[in-house]
Amino acid sequence: LPLVKASKSLSLSLQAKMSRPVQARRLEGIDKNIWVEFVKLAATYSTVNLGQGFPDFSPPDFLKEAFVRALSRENYMLHQYTRAFGHPPLVKILAQFFGKLLGRDLDPMTNVMVTVGAYQALFCCFQAFVDEGDEVIIIEPFFDCYEPMVKMAGGMPVFVPLRPKAPEDGKLMSSADWRLDPVELASKFSERTKAIVLNSPNNPLGKVFSREELELIADLCVKHDVLCISDEVYEWLVYDRKKHIRIASLQGMWDRTVIIGSAGKTFSATGWKVGWTVGPNQLLQHLRTVHQNSVYHCATVAQEAVAQGFQRELELYGKPESYFIQLPNELQQKRDWLVQSLDAVGMKPIIPEGTYFLVADISKFKSDVPDVPDLDEPYDSRFAKWMVKNKGLAAIPLSAFYCGAHKNNYDHFIRFCFAKEEATLKAANDILQKWKQEKTGL
Ligand code: PMP
Repeated sequence: LPLVKASKSLSLSLQAKMSRPVQARRLEGIDKNIWVEFVKLAATYSTVNLGQGFPDFSPPDFLKEAFVRALSRENYMLHQYTRAFGHPPLVKILAQFFGKLLGRDLDPMTNVMVTVGAYQALFCCFQAFVDEGDEVIIIEPFFDCYEPMVKMAGGMPVFVPLRPKAPEDGKLMSSADWRLDPVELASKFSERTKAIVLNSPNNPLGKVFSREELELIADLCVKHDVLCISDEVYEWLVYDRKKHIRIASLQGMWDRTVIIGSAGKTFSATGWKVGWTVGPNQLLQHLRTVHQNSVYHCATVAQEAVAQGFQRELELYGKPESYFIQLPNELQQKRDWLVQSLDAVGMKPIIPEGTYFLVADISKFKSDVPDVPDLDEPYDSRFAKWMVKNKGLAAIPLSAFYCGAHKNNYDHFIRFCFAKEEATLKAANDILQKWKQEKTGL
């Protein structure tokens, strides 16, 4: 009898196994992601990790202290839900701060919405604005999640690459040498275009778009009645006295732009996942609908601490003690160290004007990497894997920031993150020097 019972339950469990396809169609083609693989490789093999974009130093003391204060205060409400579209002290200070930067009165309740990092702000934008078949223009190289997010919303990404121009003889290339071709850009706009994604300063190149370039984009947006999703998470990280220009401040752009920011990048606290959107109510009202019906709410204590961080920065605005002045000063020095290290070994750096990323040309190192050509995997990806496994140095291939059709056109660069302690950058330098010595036998 027990045997009969066992075989019955076996056949039931076989029947219970699902045979229908479970994956929603919207996930087709986006289920593979190189970050999973590269983060794992870095964790397994790297002694120096300049791969993923996060600082290996602490956020400033005033921010950590604000978090601890918020956590330990008697106010039990700081442990509970707060206002769904943003903790009131945070949206108020963001409205004041961005109002000052943009030179317009902002209403904290309707012109600002807090999100779970800039990631969720992007997700809300695509879900709120993109319909089945709508086209969204993405400038390459791009922060890689834009493409799957557009696709998940049912949209069609349309890619336009920044075109590199060779620098003058003897000079290193700058991220400013990567430019849009105005004719090519204009050719991507059509009546199907719903939005363009702008990321200035740009991850991975560190390009800071000039006023002239932003005006070109703005004119096309106005001409074709297109929205602009402006990812400005690196807004404070600009070097060499360059200025970050907000496209929303250009003529005709406020009404059609959503500005996206991140406390993770602004205050070196990527794990807190506090982000925000700023824009006109007629756009933000739709972001609120997505937010309300998906994530609903972000961690209250982290929002309270970020609010206090902004309060401090508003008081110190433009002063040398401001973190928004100190952080880029420190990072510029780190950038310069990494530029020197790379240049000294012949891994030609492209000097970034902003962000904490630097892209370098690996052409001279090709002969070192035993290569098995694989059409499915671009060369830089194979190189980055070899480098982390054999040299212990982690970086990200530039091809990861291009669409499938363009990946092999830009396959001899890798991206380093230089938001790292001096000791980390020194350790990277030691690896590169040793590598060069092995190469040249000197
Ligand atoms: N946009 C860009 C360009 C980024 O580089 C990142 C983080 N790497 C994000 C958005 C996401 O920011 P957050 O960590 O605040 O979600």
